[in-house]
Amino acid sequence: MAQGNIGVTSDNIFPVIKKFLYSDHEIFLRELISNAVDATQKLKTLSSVGEAKGELGDMRVRVLINKSKKTLTVSDHGIGMTEEEVDKYINQIAFSGAEEFVQKYKDNAAAIIGHFGLGFYSAFMVSKKVEIFSQSYKEDSKAVHWSCDGSPVYEMEETIKADRGTDIVLHIDEEHEEYLEDSKIQELLTKYCKFLPVEIVFGKKKEWKDGREQETEEDNIINDINPAWTRKPADLTEEDYTKFYHELYPMQFDEPLFHIHLNVDYPFHLTGILYFPKIKNNLDIRRNKIQLYCNQVFVTDEVENIVPEYLTLLHGVIDSPDIPLNVSRSYLQSDAAVKKISGHITKKVADKLAELQKNEREDFEKKWDDIKLFIQFGMLSDEKFYERAAGFALFENLDKKFYTMEEYKELIKDKQTDKNGNLIVLYTQDPDASYAYIQRAKEKGYDVLLMKGELDVHFISQAEQKNEKMRFVRVDSDVIENLIKKEDETEKVALTEEQENALQYSFEAVAPKAEKVNYNVSLEPVSADALPVFLTQNEFMRRMKEMSQHQQGMSFYGEMPDQYTMVVNTAHPLISALAAELAEASKEKTAPIEATLQEKTAEEEKLKAEQKDIKSEDLTQEQKDAASAITKEVADLRNQIKQVYQEAAKDNKRLSQLVDIALLASGMLKGEGLAEFVKRSVEMMC
Ligand code: ADP
Repeated sequence: MAQGNIGVTSDNIFPVIKKFLYSDHEIFLRELISNAVDATQKLKTLSSVGEAKGELGDMRVRVLINKSKKTLTVSDHGIGMTEEEVDKYINQIAFSGAEEFVQKYKDNAAAIIGHFGLGFYSAFMVSKKVEIFSQSYKEDSKAVHWSCDGSPVYEMEETIKADRGTDIVLHIDEEHEEYLEDSKIQELLTKYCKFLPVEIVFGKKKEWKDGREQETEEDNIINDINPAWTRKPADLTEEDYTKFYHELYPMQFDEPLFHIHLNVDYPFHLTGILYFPKIKNNLDIRRNKIQLYCNQVFVTDEVENIVPEYLTLLHGVIDSPDIPLNVSRSYLQSDAAVKKISGHITKKVADKLAELQKNEREDFEKKWDDIKLFIQFGMLSDEKFYERAAGFALFENLDKKFYTMEEYKELIKDKQTDKNGNLIVLYTQDPDASYAYIQRAKEKGYDVLLMKGELDVHFISQAEQKNEKMRFVRVDSDVIENLIKKEDETEKVALTEEQENALQYSFEAVAPKAEKVNYNVSLEPVSADALPVFLTQNEFMRRMKEMSQHQQGMSFYGEMPDQYTMVVNTAHPLISALAAELAEASKEKTAPIEATLQEKTAEEEKLKAEQKDIKSEDLTQEQKDAASAITKEVADLRNQIKQVYQEAAKDNKRLSQLVDIALLASGMLKGEGLAEFVKRSVEMMC
């Protein structure tokens, strides 16, 4: 029997392995099975080039639990190891046999898993003792038994082993007895080994018989050795892709929309299949993640650092031996190979979408609603993707027709270019609420887009930045004549100053009062056929508020009250009549104030004219006082007039009725206000 120290410089490598090497203790099983699969693949390679003689026989890897002995065994029929090899590969930790093998059989050994670092030693994370029983494939070689109890001292001796290959026996320590449970091992095998290229056996298949589950004679194979992504796209049908999708995500019942089969040989190796899912809500996104494999061994489903964030909305697998696995996340992000891989995937995804949009437009339009979020997210977060996607991203209008940006510009450019040469895109987030505004836009022959997606408001801002002289405005953000300004077409309406004051003050008096909502009354000669009074909402402020819901650092906008403009359409006959009526009704009270106001205003002007050329520091206190006294008097008189109109307005049902109609037209009349409106309407008809 040989004894020796394991070839590491530090005496306490094992505590280090146990604690720090892998935070996930469970990966020991992945490591050992990877080694077993490697050894099996190596033997197949050697046999194929004639270096290993004889029949290969049963090549399955087996995982066995022995509850009474508290052992877990991983057993293969691969190349095995001689005593020298155990010494070289196992005792001298730093020596990676896999690497040496790859060097030697570069062109033939694509299937070597390896590359996980200190694979074998991870067994000590869960074991108090590890044994190796190995019989090399080499003719006339002796079997070897190696054992080590976790100290740097190992024992090695010749032994007798019936068949070729290696058994790794783990004596599970007390803290990790969960790894002696069938269900736990089954779970880990399903997680890490589901698509390994060599059959992995765990126990026997079970069957329902005589009302209970019974073991059969058949091996329970836990993996699919030829998963779809390793096969040629030409050999796969649509059904194969869908079937594989459900194999990947057994709990996902929706069908994917379409897939992309990735296959790269240069300058890195990468295969995989990405699926576009229907993205309904955030829950879906969290549940089915892209899985990363390295030569069919599951590595992780945390691919955030490997693909851009928006691509993590996709489902599927990526398999690449070129992604460094046991390194920190921040390192991954700056790794050149990873960057290339990410760039390539982005390009492939964009290519596929462009191709679908071009060749299968109808289908693409049908699926647009489901992929829109993904595409917009990509365009907003990745400049390169934006450049590609700008050509295939679609806009949907209220007639359910779809246009690319260029097509849409072409559609609206004749009618919707304003007098300053700006192309004005009209949109709505809620066709029902803005029905009246949409109708007015349509009457003018304008088109209106539907923009009710989660990211639309950001998407609009981006489109404006990228397209000079293009503005998006919500169709109800102002009167249509103001949204798309043409050469002076507004009708001139002559109201006296009294009439204007009467309208302004009266409507201010009856404008709704609500917390965090401001209404500003504005008199505008819109058009005789528009509503007499209606509401508009400033595009900029509204957008800022909407964006602040998704973006940090914008809460300032979120806190601001909603701002509405109550447009009093002075071109409407009802309003001009009302103006005259309101002015007339309060004339008795306003006339004397008006007369004094005129006097005082004249006085004020005179005083201002006198003081105009005197520097303010040269004015005497008396002069200053006189000026401020008269200014105050004028303001007071104006206020008095305002109060007269406001007082009168309170009992004017027609004013309240007009305001309520404006609210109603914008879908904002609810609850008590609505009930009052109904009651008042009936009263007015009696
Ligand atoms: P890596 O797999 O990264 O090379 P490991 O520590 O897991 O590192 O294994 C070291 C070496 O031991 C392997 O490269 C291989 O040569 C040898 N080895 C491990 N397990 C087996 C096995 N089941 N059969 C044959 N050789 C093995």
